Amino acid sequence: MTATVPQELTTFQEVNLFLDDSVERLGLPDSLREMLRQPWRELRVQVPVRMDDGRIEVFTGYRVQHNGARGPYKGGVRYHLQADRDEIRALASLMTWKNALVDLPFGGAKGGVRCDPNQLSQTELNRLTRRYTLNIAHLLAPNRDIPAPDMGTNAQTMAWMMDAYGQLHGHSPAIVTGKPVELGGSLGRDSATGRGVAFILQEAAGDLGLNLDGVRVVIQGYGNVGSWAASILHEDGCRIIAVSDVQGGTYNPKGIDVARLDDQKRAGIGVSEYPDGERISNDELLELDCDILIPAAIDNVINHQNAPRVKARVVFEAANHPITFAGDQILNDRGITILPDILVNAGGVTVSYFEWTQNLQEFKWEEERVNQELRKVMSKAYRAVRQRVVAQGINYRQAAFDIGVGRVARAVELRGFV
Ligand code: NAD
Repeated sequence: MTATVPQELTTFQEVNLFLDDSVERLGLPDSLREMLRQPWRELRVQVPVRMDDGRIEVFTGYRVQHNGARGPYKGGVRYHLQADRDEIRALASLMTWKNALVDLPFGGAKGGVRCDPNQLSQTELNRLTRRYTLNIAHLLAPNRDIPAPDMGTNAQTMAWMMDAYGQLHGHSPAIVTGKPVELGGSLGRDSATGRGVAFILQEAAGDLGLNLDGVRVVIQGYGNVGSWAASILHEDGCRIIAVSDVQGGTYNPKGIDVARLDDQKRAGIGVSEYPDGERISNDELLELDCDILIPAAIDNVINHQNAPRVKARVVFEAANHPITFAGDQILNDRGITILPDILVNAGGVTVSYFEWTQNLQEFKWEEERVNQELRKVMSKAYRAVRQRVVAQGINYRQAAFDIGVGRVARAVELRGFV
């Protein structure tokens, strides 16, 4: 892997370093590398919204379609203050490699609106979502580009998107995934990403020398992914010793009562207010002594500054790109194993795929079937990655990228583009 890395890289440049590394190992030609690097299409839109007090506020939205060689573009929509063109490009390219790694018939995309959803009322969010959807609608279709929830968006956001798209094209449930079940959403989609994290951990535990019973887990981010991962891993016998949200975290080395924390969250109280734990900052949380660290919030939280102080034995990347390229090198050098985002958090898009197929067939699966099929997909992807790790003596991220990038490169070649 590249020895020296400039530390001021954008997120998209960083993700492309992982791609370059893979292209080199796979021996792909430069022309193909360029096709794999750049997004195929991207759109920036103005999103003017009438606020509840009558003012008009103008937001900026994006949809980046990174690569469609393997099928319709697929990827979430993020509402966050850091959502800019570069971040959305990076996340779109990660979707390309992830969808290929778990062998879904999708290309990769991502969208976002630069805003703080916590500062907007439900009516403002509804108007913002509709305007954003109308402004990107010409890029969308059930067989062209299918959005889903990501940070700051949820099933309600998808319901508004489906409704806005339906006003143009008629009722089209397959236009978004992660919808409410009442509107054609899949059972098990809400928990899918967190459950996928747990499936990967169950698969990898033996190889990593971890006994799940009592293993100490720290989770950053207690939203959709973090909270589901916490409750499923808690059921699996893991000891969740610290969690956080944007406001800060809570730490109890004896273990947190996850059901109690979930009640607190439902009551709208931040996790740092948990009564039976020590209040800690997000920075402190990442450096806690633990067996497994699960970043499940935003990008770039483990970097060249704090990577030397991370004490976890293993990091499971539930968030997308939580570790910078330089942070990745430091953790690798320190012998800390990283299970990469494109494998660990692929459960969400996998059940999104199940939802899309259910919508197209107008047929509903039982939740048990969804979870069983999800386990099969995650397990198969983990085994393929692990096999490469062992056979080639490379790390998990390298192996996962090689599989994903190799499949996309093959699809591009087969289509006859180069
Ligand atoms: P979410 O909005 O439901 O939850 C995000 C959580 O992170 C919240 O608890 C929030 O308070 C916290 N957070 C936000 N900013 C933070 C900060 N600066 N420091 C610490 N915590 C912060 O989002 P989510 O859907 O759970 O997504 C979390 C991560 O998982 C993202 O990286 C996302 O791309 C990735 N992901 C999500 C899905 C999915 O299905 N939702 C699928 C794959 C990957």
